[in-house]
Amino acid sequence: MVHNFNAGPSILPHTVFEEASQAILNFNNTGLSILEIGHRTSLFEEVLNEAVSLVKELMKLDENKEVIFLHGGASTQFFQLPMNYLSKDKKAAYMDAGVWGTKAIKEAKRFGQVDVVASSKDRNYTYIPKDYAVPHEAVYFHYTTNNTIEGTQMHSIPNLSMPLVADMSSDILSREMDFNRFAFIYAGAQKNIGAAGVNLVVIDKKFLEKSSSTVPSMMDYKQHVSNGSMLNTPPVFAIYVCLLTLRWLKKMGGVAAIEKINQQKAGLLYDTLENIPLFHLPVAKEDRSLMNAVFTMNNEELEKKFLALCKAEGMVGIKGHRSVGGFRVSMYNALSLSSVEALVALIKDFGNKYA
Ligand SMILES: *Cc1c(COP(=O)(O)O)cnc(C)c1O
Repeated sequence: MVHNFNAGPSILPHTVFEEASQAILNFNNTGLSILEIGHRTSLFEEVLNEAVSLVKELMKLDENKEVIFLHGGASTQFFQLPMNYLSKDKKAAYMDAGVWGTKAIKEAKRFGQVDVVASSKDRNYTYIPKDYAVPHEAVYFHYTTNNTIEGTQMHSIPNLSMPLVADMSSDILSREMDFNRFAFIYAGAQKNIGAAGVNLVVIDKKFLEKSSSTVPSMMDYKQHVSNGSMLNTPPVFAIYVCLLTLRWLKKMGGVAAIEKINQQKAGLLYDTLENIPLFHLPVAKEDRSLMNAVFTMNNEELEKKFLALCKAEGMVGIKGHRSVGGFRVSMYNALSLSSVEALVALIKDFGNKYA
């Protein structure tokens, strides 16, 4: 038995793997593989339409929102967004709360003025900045809802007047949120919604109108929207895996139901770690992520022993990101409570032996 705590690409529901495998051999009893059907056939159109409508339903989006699937992962949005909205005389505001936000800032600077209004770099990104002012001329405010590498998460939506833009790659559809408050949301699929190779984008119609019309076609949001994610060949299989995962989430009871389980999983793990002095939790308690729990030990030998034990017990993906060290346990939607319970049992045993 393997327990997959990988940070991304990461665990997906087992039924999704089964259904996706079947579709590679014989998609919907057509005698064709999903890998060999045309993207402009009704077969694929149905897949895309259902995926879009499930996103709208699960996120409770209003009629002012457009949903598209794009190539290039979240990292492409780091530059596609400012390419569309910034110029030398225009400014955007960014929060710098982790590695991914820093990368987004770097790319935005190529296209216009960037005001980094808040940063937690001073304490190695172990907290979320709270008090900051955003210049009202900013054309948008960009932040990362969940800092995948550092294990911090924004638990409320900033109350600002300018359009809100969020990179939700690692916590999309994991908790209830008023998604309609955002002008622009993007998320690489490989953490909570599907297979790598596709990016979910939700864009407000008014914000869409303000996007550039002089960028190359593949960078042009309006063209992607008016062509219904089919400006060119979309990542057909990756979108199909998203559809299967979205169906699974709906069957589980939707976002509210999965949020409860996510809280149980993270609560159990953090409570356990807090009660064993061997482990150290670097992140400010109020900013802890429900998706990625980061912890350390101040003994390298014991860290190695712990990792070896995890490996022996089939616990995969526990080693922390090279920039943070220690351990990181990712608990995305598809990870079951029983996997966290198994890890917690191992942690307790380890604590009893070495504390
Ligand atoms: C994983 C991740 C990314 C990078 O996604 P790619 O699809 O590899 O470009 C960006 N932002 C966040 C918050 C992530 O977790």
